[in-house]
Amino acid sequence: MESTLSSSAYLGAAIFFILSLGGLSHPETARRGNLYGVIGMTIAVVATLLGPMLTRAGMPWIIGAMLVGGSIGIYAARVIRMTQMPELVALMHSLVGLAAVLVGFANYLDPVIGARYTGAEHTLHGIETCLGVLIGAVTFSGSIMAFLKLSGRISGRPVILPARHALNLAALVAVIVLGIVFSGADSIGAGTLALLLITAIALAFGVHMVMAIGGADMPVVVSMLNSYSGWAAAATGFMLYNDLLIVTGALVGSSGAILSYIMCRAMNRRFLAVIAGGFGTDGGTPTAIEGERPSGEVVAVTAAETAELLRAAKSVIIVPGYGMAVAQAQHRVSEITDFLRKQGVQVRFAIHPVAGRMPGHMNVLLAEARVPYDIVFEMDEINDEFPDTDLAMVIGANDIVNPAAEEDPASPLAGMPVLQVWKARTSIVMKRSMASGYAGVDNPLLFRENNRMLFGDARKTLDEVYAALRA
Ligand code: NDP
Repeated sequence: MESTLSSSAYLGAAIFFILSLGGLSHPETARRGNLYGVIGMTIAVVATLLGPMLTRAGMPWIIGAMLVGGSIGIYAARVIRMTQMPELVALMHSLVGLAAVLVGFANYLDPVIGARYTGAEHTLHGIETCLGVLIGAVTFSGSIMAFLKLSGRISGRPVILPARHALNLAALVAVIVLGIVFSGADSIGAGTLALLLITAIALAFGVHMVMAIGGADMPVVVSMLNSYSGWAAAATGFMLYNDLLIVTGALVGSSGAILSYIMCRAMNRRFLAVIAGGFGTDGGTPTAIEGERPSGEVVAVTAAETAELLRAAKSVIIVPGYGMAVAQAQHRVSEITDFLRKQGVQVRFAIHPVAGRMPGHMNVLLAEARVPYDIVFEMDEINDEFPDTDLAMVIGANDIVNPAAEEDPASPLAGMPVLQVWKARTSIVMKRSMASGYAGVDNPLLFRENNRMLFGDARKTLDEVYAALRA
């Protein structure tokens, strides 16, 4: 009876999670999507607490863990800035991976669980444990590396070991052999040793995989680790016989895989090359930032001149990037948009799929600042509109508007589709200096004849532009 009730509750929670994913697919329904997610998770937690899997003795541990975890969550939600979200997400993925590894070991070492399985069931359970620990360990170490790279604690440049594909292949073969040894092991000692070795190899693979990826290819890593964390959760579900974890993990795993595919297409990279790791480099040489540096005259303008150009324009396309997030300038951008629209200027936003530091980063910021959804366009929808646009205003973006991606086959960004702002009659790039963007690549756009630079912190300069517009 208890188990039927908890199964029904799990089913209800799974339905809410599916509704949540559906809601999150569009900014207009995202708030509702979040609410569905919260309801689903509340049902899941309550059903697990009251369900048959939890013993009375386990209750204080669970409550204690929930209090600690919940407090850390509330604290993080309050202090983490929007610009730190990508690294926070990477850190959370690592916890899912770690949980899968720990559950795998706990499951294997628990004599009660071990005694439950014999024959084919024992082998099957062994495979589940191996896979869970393997995926979990790769997710854990890969996510930690992603966290370190995204937070700038280590360099974002790719680090490539010689013969990396051979090393990956050797690791795969070793894991398969150890998996067979583990499933057939007749003593806990031998099994534990095999499982420990699998964990060590998987941890090293995770580090190796993410170290080899650098610069502009990081978005694919973020979404790929998102997918891995889902599969790690699903594997945990198999080990714990928890249907909801299996369903939820599979939902996260597959939606992460779809997102990775979309990101790959946006970056013009091959999906299989991503899974093998070490992409974004050519033939084993680290991405080099070499060749001729762009040169020419850089024309700086003042906020008052920018306001003049905006006033004179009939059509404006705004391209937000990571710098807008850093400066927290989205609210001012929204006010300027409002003002210009009231003056009869056509204002639209162009969103590059990898703008900022996480998928959907710019959409979230613009939605927060209440920019109307119907003037926000994806790259494919708006890229052809630049030639008919008077002014392209680039706010803290760099890599996503770099013409070298289209024009210079030797550029590390070569092949990545970018927003063609240089085709507008005039473009203004707002940033603090001539420094390069995330990929560390110089941007010839800044030297174009029809480009103007408005130097300074985006928030501050936009304040000045807004004041000049209203004056
Ligand atoms: P970039 O990192 O290429 O450029 C951002 C620019 O903003 C910098 O050149 C910087 O120039 C400027 N900037 C920083 N702070 C401020 C500020 N306070 N005011 C004004 N300008 C500022 O960002 P893009 O959005 O163009 O491109 C995203 C990059 O990040 C891509 O390479 C992408 O691959 C990568 N990435 C994306 C992820 C995702 O999921 N979206 C995840 C991981 C990486 P300056 O210092 O001169 O001010």
